[in-house]
Amino acid sequence: MSVIVIGGGIAGTAAAWAARRRGAAVALVHDRAGASELMCGALDREPWHEAPGPSLAGDRSPGAGLAPLEAAFVAALGAWHVGPRQAVVVTGAGIVRPAAGRDHALLDLAPLAGRRIAVADVARGDWDARALAAVARSSEWVRSTKTEIGIVELDLAGAAGDADLGAWELARRFDEPARVERLREAFARASGAWDAWLVGPWLGTASGVATRLREGLEVAVGESVSPVGGPAGARFAHARDELLAAEGVEVVRGAALEVTRASAGWAVRVRAERREESHVCARVVLAVGGVGAGGIVLTSPSEERGVGVGFELGLRAPVRMELDGRERDAASSLFGIDLAARGLGALERVGIVSPCGPEVDALLAAGDVVAGRPRTVLEAVRAGLDAGERAASAAAA
Ligand SMILES: Cc1cc2nc3c(=O)[nH]c(=O)nc-3n(C[C@H](O)[C@H](O)[C@H](O)COP(=O)(O)OP(=O)(O)OC[C@H]3O[C@@H](n4cnc5c(N)ncnc54)[C@H](O)[C@@H]3O)c2cc1C
Repeated sequence: MSVIVIGGGIAGTAAAWAARRRGAAVALVHDRAGASELMCGALDREPWHEAPGPSLAGDRSPGAGLAPLEAAFVAALGAWHVGPRQAVVVTGAGIVRPAAGRDHALLDLAPLAGRRIAVADVARGDWDARALAAVARSSEWVRSTKTEIGIVELDLAGAAGDADLGAWELARRFDEPARVERLREAFARASGAWDAWLVGPWLGTASGVATRLREGLEVAVGESVSPVGGPAGARFAHARDELLAAEGVEVVRGAALEVTRASAGWAVRVRAERREESHVCARVVLAVGGVGAGGIVLTSPSEERGVGVGFELGLRAPVRMELDGRERDAASSLFGIDLAARGLGALERVGIVSPCGPEVDALLAAGDVVAGRPRTVLEAVRAGLDAGERAASAAAA
């Protein structure tokens, strides 16, 4: 194997894809859901509330400005749309916000500025069309674009028990083509005066369901952003599995325990199905995510370290951990890290330094595991592609 990628989130998937494009034999090891499978379907480069001057006019604001390789990856994944202009999306609570891109199933309000959008009124415990519409109507975007937000009852063409299902389970029912067909008919009957329908995050756990639903409909239909662990993350996982299979990436379902130097490069010890095995490769990309994914773990206060928590990588590897530009790991800090003083934001800034050392064959890292980088989808894509390309070129040298 020439390249092993550890992590099956967005960064790891991008790294594996880029390394394959450069001709490397690639294996990808992953074992648990990370941030990419929990994310909401809005795609940002900077955290959206921190991005410089995002304009809620949306349709006039420049979009993510994808580099050619990023655009090629997004197209190959087939689950997202990142256009030349910013998208405008709505949360389940009615907050209207800009995004550089979106999961295909989300409704993009930007081209609907000044038009009439119906929020589907569906009897569900986790969906309050009235509250959502009220919050959305008070938003700067809706007011400044004079967009009309209505509330219209919609029969989801459902089966018994739908109302009791969580968003993910309901979305799963729409993976079934017959169910999508019935929903399309319900929209065709109900459309009337509306230019678009906003529904909850119910349009499938496989990518492509929303596209099938929209075929032949004259109105735009799309979702609000997903809750944590909702269908947008499941659609990413589905698209990832298809992409990795199509590209011939060997997928190992297991936990990487340790990365050590080997004579020909690196050895990765993996526990898969209660067995431990060692894989040797020329280059490793660490894309194990941040604290949420278990890529970085908090260590408890201990007698040796004194009070306060520390951080370390979730597997053994020769890396350096940093927080706010200072080296940090379980052993380096006598008093640990004062999270009360640094704020919980420290959990999103701590990470490893990439490349992990000055040597030409140093470990590469990408995505949420890297210190001090934005924890966003498009940063994970950028960094993953970069690490994958570098790993493949170094492996070929
Ligand atoms: C709730 C939520 C909402 C978000 N909303 C947005 C948003 O609106 N816009 C935006 O741009 N970004 C958002 N993000 C951030 C974005 O989703 C992440 O920055 C991005 O998905 C990180 O991808 P990653 O590949 O670096 O890490 P992850 O997706 O966390 O992937 C880590 C991978 O590492 C694997 N792994 C970890 N340890 C091991 C091990 N020892 N062995 C094997 N595998 C291992 C896991 O199985 C997983 O596959 C959100 C994140 C969350 C959690």
